[in-house]
Amino acid sequence: MFDFEGQTIIITGGTRGIGKGISEAFLKAGARVITTYSTNESAAARFKRDNEQFAGSLDVRKFDVTGYEEVEEFFRYIETEYGSFEVLVNNAGIRKDSVLAMMKESDWHDVMNVNLTGIFYMCKLAVMSLMRKRYGRIINIGSVMERYAFEGQANYAASKAGLVALTRSLSKEVATRGITVNCVSPGFITTELIHDLPDKLREAYLARIPLKRFGEPEEVAACVLFLASREASYVTGSLLEVAGGL
Ligand code: NAD
Repeated sequence: MFDFEGQTIIITGGTRGIGKGISEAFLKAGARVITTYSTNESAAARFKRDNEQFAGSLDVRKFDVTGYEEVEEFFRYIETEYGSFEVLVNNAGIRKDSVLAMMKESDWHDVMNVNLTGIFYMCKLAVMSLMRKRYGRIINIGSVMERYAFEGQANYAASKAGLVALTRSLSKEVATRGITVNCVSPGFITTELIHDLPDKLREAYLARIPLKRFGEPEEVAACVLFLASREASYVTGSLLEVAGGL
């Protein structure tokens, strides 16, 4: 669809689920891809095996986006190994659902730390490098839950709403440096993140989706590639929903 030959792309949480779809789409589009994960070694090994044909353009790194020092070390590695990069996709995210009155304090903080603070760390260090380059694309993966805020997801919905605000604010700060910052908000996409949905809830959600199916990671990836492309030069601070009409 778009040509990313010669471009270096960073994708957090890129070895499974939506992130895997995004990483593979960039690899197929000719990019050099640095994809990251936090703990799941077997998913990372499987991802590498599945993409053996791209071994020369693929680098899989392990670190936790909630640790500022780890994030700093990652960007030092990027500078040493690659010099610079063109695109950052902040995809890593978690959910820990429960009604607010029963929500553990740690579940609130864990979700905020990964979904919001981790993205602040990644964006902060990325823009320092991209500003020098005077070119860049940052795409943050949100969720339509920032708008729907279903019961049991106060922490998740609040983190994703915060992400939209962060995206809009940052987009204004870096616009004159040739950097665009946008948000892609998926609806229900078939990945491990939602594999624990009870059947009854799954059917209730399906009934509400105008397209009458859950989405696939590749369908989110297509939108990310558009926003990451040179062709999307006049799109910044925007929110693109990939949710089957929800
Ligand atoms: P997933 O659970 O399959 O993958 C999440 C990824 O995030 C994993 O690769 C994991 O290693 C990484 N990650 C988690 N915590 C991390 C940390 N502390 N540091 C670094 N990496 C970490 O989930 P998914 O469904 O592929 O979700 C990807 C993104 O899409 C998330 O931001 C999620 O909120 C969003 N999203 C998903 C859906 C859906 O229906 N699946 C819907 C809307 C939004």
